[in-house]
Amino acid sequence: MLDLAIIGGGPAGLAAGLYAVRGGGDVCLYEEMFTGGQIVKTHRIDNYPGISDGPDGYALAARFEEHATAFGLRIEYGSVSELDLLSNPKRFTFNGQTVEAKTVILCTGASPKSLGIPGEKELTGHGVSYCATCDGAFYKNRTATVIGGGDTAISDALYLAKLCKQVYVVHRRDALRASAVLADAALKTENITFVWNSVPEAFLGEGKLSGVRLLNRVTGEVSDLQTDGVFVAVGVNPRTELFKEQVKLAENGSVETDAHMQTSVEGVFAAGDVRNTPLRQVVTACADGAIAATYALEASRVK
Ligand code: NAP
Repeated sequence: MLDLAIIGGGPAGLAAGLYAVRGGGDVCLYEEMFTGGQIVKTHRIDNYPGISDGPDGYALAARFEEHATAFGLRIEYGSVSELDLLSNPKRFTFNGQTVEAKTVILCTGASPKSLGIPGEKELTGHGVSYCATCDGAFYKNRTATVIGGGDTAISDALYLAKLCKQVYVVHRRDALRASAVLADAALKTENITFVWNSVPEAFLGEGKLSGVRLLNRVTGEVSDLQTDGVFVAVGVNPRTELFKEQVKLAENGSVETDAHMQTSVEGVFAAGDVRNTPLRQVVTACADGAIAATYALEASRVK
């Protein structure tokens, strides 16, 4: 039986793994596809202390993984199912085998929100995307539109502005939520045009996106903006499908924890974007992971 099972291999899970192996625990990290989580979709990370060369998220995630595995972290790839957090030990099925662990840290992260407007489902992958780093190259020398005003939207717009002829940012208010550094850079970029106080009502096109129908919330005017691609960046949903009936969730759907990152269930911890947190950054996810691993190991020793 493991002392600790970590579910999810983004920054929170990898930091938890590093702390747990260095703390002497018998620990394994279970990751569905590849380590790094949402940061692998980020083209530049400028705000992780001590790393000022602005690596892309993929490179930073690779460094995290290398660091944790160098200290002995085991990482297994596959899908976790039938998770029972209420039993002692905790149990789940992984690639057809039952795994038992004294404690668990949930690091399943968050996935991009959709808008739920007409045309979105049909045109996803045909002009509508949720990842500028993944799909931006399709719009080289063409026109792209980003929906949202947060850090993701504005860093996507800056990335796309280097590739595209013209980038529009459609935001529902007249002030950005994104951090000042990103916002100032975008406002100064010549080929980024802001469309303020506007929300998308429908994505247009048959089989291929041709534009987006916008409603101006101040004037009530409806207009069609022609664009080759749309990048939806309107926030994230915590990924709790596996365990939402077993641990207490906040109203916004994220996992409630105490200051030790313990959830409502003894021996079960949560860290990173899946947790009810006021700031979703790489550095806060890593800090959550470190705290969760420290107290999970402590809990495993009294069991
Ligand atoms: P976010 O901060 O929640 O921003 C979402 C944006 O989408 C907001 O501007 C919001 O408008 C808008 N929005 C939400 N629902 C909408 C809807 N239905 N229609 C139109 N617009 C809508 O999400 P995020 O930008 O994905 O960032 C998530 C977390 O990751 C944040 O904590 C962020 O700081 C972090 N992050 C950090 C970095 C970085 O540091 N480089 C990069 C990416 C993400 P309002 O402003 O009006 O609410």
